[in-house]
Amino acid sequence: MNKNALIVIDDALEHILQQALVTTNIEEVALSGLSGRVIAETIKAGINVPGYDNSAMDGFAVNTDFVPSPETTLAISQIIPAGKVGFTLEAGTAARIFTGAPIPDGANAIILQEDTEHDEHQVKILQVPKAGQNIRLCGHDIKQGDAILVKGHKLLPQDIGLLASLGQRKVKVYRPLSVSILNTGDELITPGQRLNPGQIYESNSFTLDALLKNLGMQTRKIGIVKDDLPATQKALLKAAEESDCIISSGGVSVGDADFVKTAVENLGELSLWKLAIKPGKPFSFGHLGEIPFFGLPGNPVAVFVTFLMLVKPYLLKMQGGQNIHPEKYQLPAGFEVPEAGSRQEYIRVRININQHNQQELIPFSNQGSSVMTSTSWANGLAIIPVNATVKKGDLLEFLPYTGLL
Ligand code: AMP
Ligand code: MG
Repeated sequence: MNKNALIVIDDALEHILQQALVTTNIEEVALSGLSGRVIAETIKAGINVPGYDNSAMDGFAVNTDFVPSPETTLAISQIIPAGKVGFTLEAGTAARIFTGAPIPDGANAIILQEDTEHDEHQVKILQVPKAGQNIRLCGHDIKQGDAILVKGHKLLPQDIGLLASLGQRKVKVYRPLSVSILNTGDELITPGQRLNPGQIYESNSFTLDALLKNLGMQTRKIGIVKDDLPATQKALLKAAEESDCIISSGGVSVGDADFVKTAVENLGELSLWKLAIKPGKPFSFGHLGEIPFFGLPGNPVAVFVTFLMLVKPYLLKMQGGQNIHPEKYQLPAGFEVPEAGSRQEYIRVRININQHNQQELIPFSNQGSSVMTSTSWANGLAIIPVNATVKKGDLLEFLPYTGLL
């Protein structure tokens, strides 16, 4: 292979993911601390849910044998509220029953209150019931022994309710990864300080910090690193000591002030450099000892895109997750790309409703890799494959932020 050829993104992702080792750091966490955590065990139900046949409605429990014809009147022989167990239903009578209450022995149907005329003592049942109606059977939601959440699942709020409904108090989850962030560049100044000529505010660490926290990970900011080799090496060594993974921005291009690549090669090894991706070409990946290293480019949009496309799937796998790839949909382009490119491009787009009332993707006017407004304006990324031109109406892969961030 030509040494200078750019690496195709799918190959790069495959290479990266092959090297992702799932963390062995596991802890038990109580229900209230579980939102967003990845489970390290498959959860099997210890009980049936519901645990007994119960009424789905407020009404009357009867046996269908007692109601051979419409407008049958039955005496009310007992009242069963939720939380109480009734006694065996006396022949030829009905039990007043409320939602969630156990069905008494001898009953096989619940008549909705609205389908009766009743007072305290008796109930007229207007229609003939069917056996089983309005009864929630024992175990109809979950059967004891069912695997209800599998190892590697990221817990959503409803999953935590589900665990509670099984009586589970705590669960084994992977400890959040700790990720170091360092940012190279002599021109960088921390927000809040005065900008001098030639300086810019450092923003990449803030984007990365928020992206990582969104994934439930812990971050360590190593800070701004000067463009010189010893400073870069020192910062990388500190990062490697303090975290499970290192992410840097800037200094991986081919300029005279780009020391990150050399620093990583001096301290460890670099196994990937320069991808056929736009923005984000100078992306690099390697290791310092056991610690994975991602060298993102300096341009802020390139940081955003390469993190989402390459770093995030790796980190999710390392965090123990099963579902590591972003959601994709096919949507028609509302724009044209007349000239094919040699790199896979990630365009910042919004979904627009056109005059035919159909969805289409429209791009931000300036797709420059330093133009952060494009990322805030957009609601997702659209992919233009290598060597492809695009005509209006062509279907493009669209990755909405809702499934991406
Ligand atoms: P580099 O890859 O170091 O050549 O940086 C490419 C561009 O990104 C330059 O214009 C830098 O000033 C800019 N840049 C690098 N790092 C940051 C950062 N942390 N925040 C904002 N812009 C940056
Ligand atoms: Mg730089």
